[in-house]
Parts: sequence; C-alpha cells; structure tokens
Amino acid sequence: MVEERELVNRAFRVILLGIEEVVGKNGMSAVLRTANLAQYIDNYPPSNTERGGHPLHYMSDINRALYEIYGMRGARAILYRVGRGRAKKAIEENATFANAVKMAVSLLPRRMKVKLALERISREYSQQMGTDVRVFEEGEFFFWEDAHCPGCIGWSSETAVCHTTAGFIFGVLAWGADDEDFKVQEVLCRAKGDAVCRYQIAIHA
Ligand SMILES: [Zn+2]
Repeated sequence: MVEERELVNRAFRVILLGIEEVVGKNGMSAVLRTANLAQYIDNYPPSNTERGGHPLHYMSDINRALYEIYGMRGARAILYRVGRGRAKKAIEENATFANAVKMAVSLLPRRMKVKLALERISREYSQQMGTDVRVFEEGEFFFWEDAHCPGCIGWSSETAVCHTTAGFIFGVLAWGADDEDFKVQEVLCRAKGDAVCRYQIAIHA
C-alpha cells in the first residue's frame, strides 16, 4: 500500500525541534543524514498548519536513524523525552490542544476526565499527523490505537518502537491532570507485525 499521508508543517517542525533539543544540533544533523533527510538540516518546516510535503514515513525514518545511532535503549529514552516535550509544546502553542485538555480539567471524576481528554486529543492529533487514532476503554485500561502510526512505517523489529507516541500520550495526560500517575505502554506495534500500534493507558486512583 502506498502511504500518501502527510504531517502538517508544524507537527514535523515540533518533532525536529524536540529531537534537536535532546541530541543537540550536531547530533540532529547526523540523525537527518542517516535518515536520508539531509534536506532538512538547518531547514525545518515553518510553524503553520499547511502540508508542506512531509510524508508520514519521514517520522519513522528519523526514529530508525535514532536507533541506528544511539542503540535501542538510547533511542527509547530520547524518543520518550521527545514525545513528552512534544505534548508540552503542542499544548502551549496550540489553543485547540490546550482547550481539549483544559476541558477535561474539571470536577468530573478522574477517569472521566482522562477519557474526555484522550478523545479530544486523539481527534486533534489525527488531524495534525494525518492519521486516524481510535480511543477505547476495556476493563481498567484505556487504549489509544493507530492503524496508520507514523512512527514505524516500513520497519520491522522484535520489540515495540513507537516511544514518541507513548511519551506524547503520557505528557498530555500528565499536563492535564497535573500529576504523573499514569502508565503508558505500547502493547501492539506494527513494527512487530501487528495490524495497529496500540498503547495501553493505566490510571492510578
Ligand atoms: Zn508504530
């Protein structure tokens, strides 16, 4: 299947800036070169919501370059941090996102707040990332499921690799709830041969 989905400029810009923040400018140049995306060195997309020709798979190309350079553990730590940073930036820079989370900060029970936040954020995320996230509840857990996950396109691995998204979900929920009593774990990943990337979200109390 041909992947023609595209990231909006700002979404890709925030990801690039987020990784640069963690690995530094030189590290970032190496990552982009390894990912065959040298055209973005010192040339990030502008901060707007247009689609500037950044196919979704660029994200997984970058993730893969991080694995190549920093190894699995290193890349996992970097990507998780990038995801959390992205959540923060998305909230700060994007009123729709902030409102989505804020709406959920109310006197509702915690579980209901989390559910509302996940539903709203997944819609906004899907639009910006050119994908379709489905959120559902099963037993004590919430799940975030993406059949077009941009993190692992064309990638095969024995372990789940989409740590940016896990970090992102965690970051958004932690910001909305003003605490860190969440656990986000990728339980299915397309890189492992699963049909979707699925994240399990556990909330405490
Ligand atoms: Zn994935």
